[in-house]
Amino acid sequence: MLPVQRKTHSQTRHGRSHHGLTAIQSAACPNCGDTKLPHRACRNCGYVRPGLSVRAHGVAAAKD
Ligand SMILES: [Zn+2]
Repeated sequence: MLPVQRKTHSQTRHGRSHHGLTAIQSAACPNCGDTKLPHRACRNCGYVRPGLSVRAHGVAAAKD
């Protein structure tokens, strides 16, 4: 990098101040109480919303 384009340590650090990770949001499943991601199916029971649930991988879902 040419010396005229060189960023100072301060400019570099200020730019990287926006690179921090954000915490993952989680919500409790109203069906089984396990933690799940918002707007996603529950990994434990497959619950999505009232009237809709999907079968989770590796879980023997009850046959209806
Ligand atoms: Zn659940």
